[in-house]
Amino acid sequence: MKNATGYKYKIELHAHTSPVSECADIPPRGVVRRYADAGVHGLTITNHLWPGLLPRARDAAEFYMDDFQTAREEGRRLGVRMYLGAELRFEENANDYLVYGIDGDWVRRVIDYFSLGIERYLRDFRNDQSLIIQAHPFRNGMIPVPGTDGAEIFNMHPNHNSRNGIASVYANAHNLIPAAGTDFHHAGHEALGLTLSKSLPVDSFGLADLLRSRDYLFLLGGRVMIPEWKE
Ligand SMILES: [Zn+2]
Ligand SMILES: [Zn+2]
Repeated sequence: MKNATGYKYKIELHAHTSPVSECADIPPRGVVRRYADAGVHGLTITNHLWPGLLPRARDAAEFYMDDFQTAREEGRRLGVRMYLGAELRFEENANDYLVYGIDGDWVRRVIDYFSLGIERYLRDFRNDQSLIIQAHPFRNGMIPVPGTDGAEIFNMHPNHNSRNGIASVYANAHNLIPAAGTDFHHAGHEALGLTLSKSLPVDSFGLADLLRSRDYLFLLGGRVMIPEWKE
């Protein structure tokens, strides 16, 4: 069994900023400041990337990237390493998928897949460097899709029942990469669900590699949790 020695870096895998995520309250700089104050070393911005974005901007990809670029500048200032992520949704249903190992070019390409759905996405992006993890697969209205790389087994959003225990059993049964995240939207909820690692990934691609390695622990509500799975 692993122990917590050496897992000294704290990383957030699931956080939203306003205005790109309409459901979030806090603009990019404020989110980074809160995470810096919480002692977090790496922060992933996973704004909603879905069909609802299209009527809100002439160039949806540029609009999407604006929040991240502002956050990255603030991260440089405050010493928080920023990672580009996304919470992707297609037209077919209300499922959400967290994606890591991406860049602005991926954001631009994926917009064309909104109408095509997850199966087509998985076919075309399977050999890509990106990693796709189903967010909170057992929240109301979600349909678990075991063909993804992983499942968010601890979604710490205080205003939703994500049925984390069931999600954890499900991830083990399908040998899915287990992920934890805060799903940060509102002040006071920052850093509730973190990942602990031995090294701090350089960028979003390195973050995807870390998740593939499965060499990390969770920090949930300030308590270390050691994930175990069948080898
Ligand atoms: Zn949201
Ligand atoms: Zn979210």
